[in-house]
Amino acid sequence: MLPESVLKTAAAEMLDYQGCGQSVMEMSHRSKVYEGIINACEASLREVMNIPDGYKVLFLQGGASSQFAMVPLNLMNKNNKADYVITGQWAKKAYTEAARYGKVNVVASSADKTFSYIPELDSTSFDPDADYFHICLNNTIYGTKYHDIPNTGKVPLVADVSSCILSEPIDVSKFGVLYAGAQKNMGPAGLTVVIIREDLIGNAMDITPTMFNYKTHADNGSMFNTPPTYAIYICKLVLDWIKNEIGGLENMKTINEKKAALLYDFLDGSHLFKGTVEKGSRSLMNIPFITGSEDLDKKFVAEATAAGFVNLKGHRTVGGMRASIYNAMPMEGVEKLVAFMKAFEETNA
Ligand SMILES: *Cc1c(COP(=O)(O)O)cnc(C)c1O
Repeated sequence: MLPESVLKTAAAEMLDYQGCGQSVMEMSHRSKVYEGIINACEASLREVMNIPDGYKVLFLQGGASSQFAMVPLNLMNKNNKADYVITGQWAKKAYTEAARYGKVNVVASSADKTFSYIPELDSTSFDPDADYFHICLNNTIYGTKYHDIPNTGKVPLVADVSSCILSEPIDVSKFGVLYAGAQKNMGPAGLTVVIIREDLIGNAMDITPTMFNYKTHADNGSMFNTPPTYAIYICKLVLDWIKNEIGGLENMKTINEKKAALLYDFLDGSHLFKGTVEKGSRSLMNIPFITGSEDLDKKFVAEATAAGFVNLKGHRTVGGMRASIYNAMPMEGVEKLVAFMKAFEETNA
């Protein structure tokens, strides 16, 4: 979902952006007007996320999936090795891609229990010579998130934050790189945001394609080539919404915690539905649940879809159900879902 106020602003400005006579979609990315938009987007992101000086913000394309290659190509440059924690499909894909470029060490994995928890990390298993340490902070498909950020000492911590960015404050200074496909919580598909500590830029492997080199984009203010201009504009509106209507990420977190608690509390007390994730690893954004019967799961998804609840089917690899309650999902949406689940429980338990 996107906030309704964002869509309304975009609609109102669709044909003529603030009196300039053009749609944002029609502008040259090098025009003065557009420069104002991309600069405002970066300034808002820095303000909302409290990004320290010494970090670059890059507006790229290719999705989080391209970062699975970009990270090793740019960072595996001293000892040609890296540590990975495998907490789900995205983490595994990141690991598999990195393994094409160097030696990757699996520090821990939660594959043994279908990724239903975040594994305890033993720092003695960390490689002190790793060029970086990679985690997926919120595991979209399985509904887990790190409640503590691993301390990797001098080894830069790299995190895929595609499904949790802007959902609560993140201490950026604990990370070397944060990256996110924008489509879950920041705006429409097509934009990938990278927040990177400046000292990690400029040492890419020789084989790195120009477009996959962070330096290319850092040196050109994300304007080496045409950036995803309209997606950046919407992202700016979403950031304005968080700043002005929500009141920042602390408030966003409080709202998200309330929304998630409503559903988790219901699941914990339900005789029919149950959450699939260990309590200490629960995500604020993605909440998978099951009935215990595949037939009932199917029936629930069908009836929920007919009642207007979309995208409740679990990921094709895990089945069951999953409620993704990203920032723009209002409290009312979760209340209605819980009421629907209660009614389903009464007729089917
Ligand atoms: C959705 C998602 C991805 C994939 O993002 P693309 O932008 O489609 O490449 C990667 N990682 C996580 C955690 C995701 O939620």
